[in-house]
Amino acid sequence: MARRLWHPDGMPEGDSLHRVARRLQVLVGQRIEAESPNPRGLETGVARAVDGRVLERVEAVGKNVLLHFDGGVVVRSHLRMNGRWRVRRRGDAVWRGSPWLILRGPEWEATQWNGPVLRLGGGTVRALGPDLLADATDPAALVSRLRRVDQARLVGDALVDQRIVAGIGNMWLAEALWQGQVSPWSRLAEVGDDELLEVLEWARDSMRAAVRGARPSRAVYRRAGRGCPRCGEAISSRGLGDANRTAYWCQRCQPGGVGS
Ligand SMILES: [Zn+2]
Repeated sequence: MARRLWHPDGMPEGDSLHRVARRLQVLVGQRIEAESPNPRGLETGVARAVDGRVLERVEAVGKNVLLHFDGGVVVRSHLRMNGRWRVRRRGDAVWRGSPWLILRGPEWEATQWNGPVLRLGGGTVRALGPDLLADATDPAALVSRLRRVDQARLVGDALVDQRIVAGIGNMWLAEALWQGQVSPWSRLAEVGDDELLEVLEWARDSMRAAVRGARPSRAVYRRAGRGCPRCGEAISSRGLGDANRTAYWCQRCQPGGVGS
């Protein structure tokens, strides 16, 4: 176990946070696969917001570690008494229990344990859009928000822009678009309000079920080359958007757009 230094009030010292930030550097520049085995970690929404994004920078600021991902997504980790990070070579990581967050790059894997403060937004982060999972968020209002941005934007890019709507990561994007039979390569202008609403409502309901512990079934996400559960066509995958995250879709059920 990594040695930790403790402040008299029981808080990890700032330098231990800097050591954490330094260890996490091995993941900088990598596209990250993220998951939250711990339900309380899942509830933070962090894993789904960063999954498929590139970790651009890690820094220690005071008692916080800030992880900056592409698209302006910042995760703030404050360790308080019990929280800790571990970084291991992928495959060497042997752990028991449920980490709040696992970040995997091609070679390295970081796990975050016991929170207790793990949240999106780091102070300097650009304003996030409404959280899809918040009770106060009306999916119809999110459709209006989507109509106020450039309608030439690809649906598969706009829906994961956390400044428009916060909370949708790459997995839920792929699954919700497949459910709504909308191509990630369609321009916003080519997709009707009712279709966007269906996609957003399906994503919200499914993510809420996952927060309650339901295991999501995957139709297209990371299933490239395998048969579409609806029509049997081989699932396609291709890099999409500025961050070049991978889109997964069925060309037969989700026709249209530049990717087909
Ligand atoms: Zn299909």
